[in-house]
Amino acid sequence: MERFFAERPNEGETIRITGDDAKHLAKVLRIAVGAPVELCDGCDNVCLGEIIAVSNDEVLAKAGDWQPSGTEPAHFINLLQCLPKAGKMETITQKCVELGVCAIQPVLSERCVALPTRDFEKKRLRYARVAREAAKQSKRGIVPAVLPLCHLKELCFADFDTVLLAYEEERETTLRETLRQGVGKRIALIIGPEGGFAPDEAARLVAKGAVPVSLGPRILRTETAGPAMLAQVLYEVSP
Ligand code: SAM
Repeated sequence: MERFFAERPNEGETIRITGDDAKHLAKVLRIAVGAPVELCDGCDNVCLGEIIAVSNDEVLAKAGDWQPSGTEPAHFINLLQCLPKAGKMETITQKCVELGVCAIQPVLSERCVALPTRDFEKKRLRYARVAREAAKQSKRGIVPAVLPLCHLKELCFADFDTVLLAYEEERETTLRETLRQGVGKRIALIIGPEGGFAPDEAARLVAKGAVPVSLGPRILRTETAGPAMLAQVLYEVSP
């Protein structure tokens, strides 16, 4: 059964589904009154609802008993992704949402080839739609946010217990060793663009508290590195 994200009302139990989801329910799934529907409030709670009204613009459902979705990781992991060349950010977003990322922060660094045009906000909204679809498909309990673009220099690590910098020049410390020394609940993963990190960029990030780690002897594409690192961290920290 497909999962639909919808705002949980402050009181009462009628859930309103609007926009593309309403159209999808009404015109594609042709859902009927009385049919069951899986609802998620985006705050890691789900319930089995019952459709009570259907139109192309709005579908109403009566909420059942809410319970924890049970699909969210215990760690909150943000991916701080330096802008890759066109078309890759959608794939990175989709795969990392399926894997369990908490939020994605697009970052502009020195060697980013794809420099943001004025309408980066339009692209961010597209990435946010990709995140929402991937969250529905993978039955996430939240819709991971795609945050506004920021410069590498502006990154603030105050919200994280552990910041891991995937650094292609790191030869000593591996991701596994670092994780085995213990990490906090709120983790940031920093991935460079196709051109990697300039040495002074990496040095500045380390000075701010990032731990440079190697992802192994092979050089991964930027669109591979984020999902791969996220999967390895989640594997290592999950009970
Ligand atoms: N231009 C770099 C080079 O030729 O060495 C490669 C950069 S790689 C395509 C893009 C990003 O993926 C890197 O900046 C880093 O964040 C991450 N990455 C890829 N392979 C890695 C590895 N073996 N260890 C650590 N980070 C890696």
